[in-house]
Amino acid sequence: MAAAIQPVRGMNDILPDVTPTWQWVERTAQAVFAAYGYRELRMPLVERTELFSRSIGEVTDIVEKEMYSFTDRNGDRLSLRPEATASCVRAAISNGLIHNQQQRLWYAGPMFRYERPQKGRYRQFHQVGAEALGFAGPDVDAELILMSARLWQALGLQDLQLELNSLGTPASRRDYRALLVEYFMAHRDALDEDSVRRLEQNPLRILDSKNPEMRALIAAAPVITDHLDAESAVHFEQLKAALDAAGVSYRVNPRLVRGLDYYSRTVFEWLTDRLGAQAAVCSGGRYDGLVEQLGGRPTPAIGWALGMERLVELVLDGAPAARVAHAYLVPVGDAAQAAALAMAETLRDHVPGLRLQTHCGGGSLKAAMKKADRSGATLALILGDDELAAGQVRVKPLRGDGEQAALDPAQLRGQLAALVGAEQA
Ligand code: ATP
Ligand code: MG
Repeated sequence: MAAAIQPVRGMNDILPDVTPTWQWVERTAQAVFAAYGYRELRMPLVERTELFSRSIGEVTDIVEKEMYSFTDRNGDRLSLRPEATASCVRAAISNGLIHNQQQRLWYAGPMFRYERPQKGRYRQFHQVGAEALGFAGPDVDAELILMSARLWQALGLQDLQLELNSLGTPASRRDYRALLVEYFMAHRDALDEDSVRRLEQNPLRILDSKNPEMRALIAAAPVITDHLDAESAVHFEQLKAALDAAGVSYRVNPRLVRGLDYYSRTVFEWLTDRLGAQAAVCSGGRYDGLVEQLGGRPTPAIGWALGMERLVELVLDGAPAARVAHAYLVPVGDAAQAAALAMAETLRDHVPGLRLQTHCGGGSLKAAMKKADRSGATLALILGDDELAAGQVRVKPLRGDGEQAALDPAQLRGQLAALVGAEQA
């Protein structure tokens, strides 16, 4: 036997037992997006590497060490997308979507980051995200947060915590940055290796450090919300007032800086305490400078992205059960086998919503009935020579009690339609 080919580390198959939950979350998100007038955008998985280094930032974990980058046969430097906001802005610019227009957009799909795989953190993972382009806010900031809150509600999640912060403008951030550098310089000996490097290039990112030994030092650092410019401060107050008015609770976390460089003003995260260290289920923020930075006209914008793997893990308990077949059709004998597939087609034509599995591969009636039972179907439909001759099908209930009966086609359709209807009621 040849050696089995191993899957790529950190890249998972999503198996049929859980795909119903994925589909349910996806459908629910689509319905919520539609309720707010957001429309779907589909983007390539591969972009020019430069798109990400220019937007996410050269001195971020993602660009420094997590991208899957390669040179294609034409010599172009390309990367698998590590996130989709940059692609979305690129797409909006290249297709003229924000030329004198605003856009409310959503997307869903796989992202790729070369991280250390662990529960809730993978190298291929999936995000669903929303972006509002051309809106200065804070009303649209609140709208996006309310939209995410509505999604949690629709998914039956009651325990997610919202954290909010404002990063101000690039100018106000420069002043704060100087204070921060001064503070960390004074405690240089207590910095870890990553933080020493960040101190010169991107000191705000030190606040995002996940090293527990840095926690106390970070907790005592100057606080960004004390150093906002006047307009950002007003923006932040208005956002909080809108959330208060809508009854959304939140906690202001002045150390929330997010791992990407393009954010300005509003940033937020939805957190859970049910997934260990991988606490962030959804994160987002305003990126007023990004469109211009990527070659478009100055356009304010904001968005968020949720991690599907983490969300699915949270909703797994409350998700609807996998939808098994209503009926399992067992042909017995050559003539029945020849007729079975066509009969199954006719039943699917006549009974909308019917989930019917046909037994394939022959074998004994006993073995086929075992498979019928294991399929989870409610009814077995047995088609033998006698039934075929009489123009009937023998119906055997597989769950609960109930008698076997030989039904003619109209009766059979009636019973199957009732089964489908009962499920939908
Ligand atoms: P974290 O702090 O957990 O690394 P992040 O700040 O890097 O998250 P974003 O880039 O904002 O996350 O992505 C949005 C969401 O995507 C996160 O809140 C998380 O739910 C999910 N996510 C990010 N990276 C991964 C990953 N490697 N595996 C699974 N989900 C992820
Ligand atoms: Mg990360």
